[in-house]
Amino acid sequence: MRELRLMMVACTIVTALWFTHASAQRPAPLGDATLYEGARLIVGDGNPPIEVSAFLVENNRFTRVGRKGEIQAPAGATRVDLTGKTVIPGLVDAHSHIGYMKNLTSGAENYTRENILDHMRRFAYFGVAASQAMGSDFGEMPFQLRDEILAGRHPDAARFLTAGRGLAPLSEISSDNMRQAAFPVTTVWGARASVQELVPRNVKLIKTWVDDRGGSIKPLAPELYKAIIDEAHKNNLRVAVHATDLKQAKELLRANIDVFAHMISDVDDELVALFKLHPNAAVLSALGGPHRAIYAPWLNPVHPLIAETVLPEQIKRLQGRFPVKGEAIAPSQEAWDRLAKGIARLQKAGVKIGVGTDGGGQQGDQFIGWTMHAELENMVMAGIPPAQVLVAGTRTSAEILGQDDLGMVAAGKSADFVVLDANPLDDIKNTRKISRVFLRGVEVDRAKLKAGFMNRGTAN
Ligand SMILES: [Zn+2]
Repeated sequence: MRELRLMMVACTIVTALWFTHASAQRPAPLGDATLYEGARLIVGDGNPPIEVSAFLVENNRFTRVGRKGEIQAPAGATRVDLTGKTVIPGLVDAHSHIGYMKNLTSGAENYTRENILDHMRRFAYFGVAASQAMGSDFGEMPFQLRDEILAGRHPDAARFLTAGRGLAPLSEISSDNMRQAAFPVTTVWGARASVQELVPRNVKLIKTWVDDRGGSIKPLAPELYKAIIDEAHKNNLRVAVHATDLKQAKELLRANIDVFAHMISDVDDELVALFKLHPNAAVLSALGGPHRAIYAPWLNPVHPLIAETVLPEQIKRLQGRFPVKGEAIAPSQEAWDRLAKGIARLQKAGVKIGVGTDGGGQQGDQFIGWTMHAELENMVMAGIPPAQVLVAGTRTSAEILGQDDLGMVAAGKSADFVVLDANPLDDIKNTRKISRVFLRGVEVDRAKLKAGFMNRGTAN
């Protein structure tokens, strides 16, 4: 009896400690209100900005958004003057691979809780409020870390979105690529069972690969990806696919695919017509690969945001690779021209387009966070107007990922926003002129993060 009582006392103490700990880590106390006034506000819906805005943040959410003078601060509220600045919603990267890159190496050996947190802090530093890891996660840890970040336990980290383990054909999986995390899919029953394993993990989407890698591998058979899509839809999950071939893209659209994780290599009338029949299907940009090969002016001279977040040896390695010169440039130029023309055409046709960077991929040269800003520029260079590119990189990406409370500065949404020194509607490269970043209503300590990135022990 005495022992039981002691145990109960111990339990009470542990519970009390837990609650103290949890509340101490909460981003802002309830009842906390801040009124931000004077900024040019781009709310994320493509409409012209509110030139002299005011928005109120209470309990980590936007509660009122309008013109300065229209919104009164509640008693006791803090006021922040943002005159001369431009505010955009926190950016959303809809396709990345998180936790693999570290210094000059990339691989599963780097996949730790600490490394994922480091990457999410880099995203935060760059004004990216959330990033979706596309099928390269494994184990229980990523789901736990995702939930901790969502609960505000890591105020300087962007939202970590995980699809858990992707689903791939055996031919895609090897120990030295990120598909090592994937469920191997060989039968219809197995495909359905793998989707079922992800359902209780509260993922929003399933990632799969359907690509013959230029004819070098056997792609996932249609009956297998159809089973994945069917099982996912039965469980209210979306499916994102790596498939860039035009013919496969059409077959996937007919099979009710939800998201293309990469831009499709070609666009023709039939593809546009199929997208019209499937208006909820979306395409993520991922233009960075071919474009970086021919266009990387931010490496010479090195952009300050890169210099202050990436180790010199990593920068040097990429400078040695890009941009490609001489005859070798032709295939990349040709690939870029095709992708750029295609994405501009899809955008004009009203296809839902989000921004994905494929950052953190195994090539080891997609600097976490920076790639988002390079990708926004790529989309403008492809011919999409800056206002629409900003919608793609905020509201649309959030919508594709099922993050209803992200992507806009609007009442009810999570107060994730970026304060810029210049207007990105004038020049999309102004998204890099970051003054301050707020996540869940709390300012990210960028100076502290910067110091951490360049500490050789943790720099990436
Ligand atoms: Zn990828």
